[in-house]
Amino acid sequence: MNIILLGPPGAGKGTQSDYLRDTYKLTKLATGDMLRAAVASGSEIGLKAKAVMAAGALVSDDIMIGIIRDAISDSNCPNGFILDGFPRTTAQAAALDGMLEEEGKKIDYVIELKVDDAALVARIAGRYSCKKCGAGYHDTFRKPAVADRCDACDSTEFTRREDDKAETVAKRLEQYHAMTAPLLPHYKAAGNLRTVDGMADIAEVTLAINGIVG
Ligand code: ADP
Ligand code: AMP
Ligand code: ZN
Repeated sequence: MNIILLGPPGAGKGTQSDYLRDTYKLTKLATGDMLRAAVASGSEIGLKAKAVMAAGALVSDDIMIGIIRDAISDSNCPNGFILDGFPRTTAQAAALDGMLEEEGKKIDYVIELKVDDAALVARIAGRYSCKKCGAGYHDTFRKPAVADRCDACDSTEFTRREDDKAETVAKRLEQYHAMTAPLLPHYKAAGNLRTVDGMADIAEVTLAINGIVG
């Protein structure tokens, strides 16, 4: 099964794609995570992406398409994949369509998480994650079961994203509306777009997604 999660920054794509990865044994391909790893390692892609990400702009289509071309191979995704954060432009969507056709693969579901901009700002402002395993948390909406201890790996070290600052968030939302929202009609026409109310609680959103893919 191959799934695309579409939605603005803070909509819950990462939260729900972790669930889909664990439940359906799919490979999670989160391009933001891949880029952050590239920045941390100081690779050529990381050097190119660093300032663009810090400004809340989009990394070039050429770089992103190259990353995904390598990542969606059968050896990397034996049970299929979840795309979280890709495609983000019409050029990326067209390239993905081409790659899938070449490889005889298809996207089963494009799931849109619909959330108001006002709610996104609060979600992003309270977001943090485990430094060791990457599990995602929120100051208000998803606290660890034991305070300051990761549910998944017991670590006590957490981190916040540099681009989750208020100034950068506005730019990222603007990019979503200008560059990514136009993909919705493309997938609607293809017939596999499903829209989920992303304003609901995390568990309710998971239930709705399960109702689609389960
Ligand atoms: P995205 O990957 O789309 O940018 P995340 O999954 O990182 O979004 O979610 C952003 C923040 O909001 C995280 O701190 C997460 O714990 C929290 N969150 C995710 N889904 C919900 C929800 N349905 N209701 C409230 N908070 C949520
Ligand atoms: P995310 O973790 O999905 O919020 O992505 C963080 C940042 O990485 C974005 O603000 C962009 O700068 C960059 N990025 C991630 N995915 C893409 C993509 N598909 N196309 C362009 N830029 C991307
Ligand atoms: Zn952890």
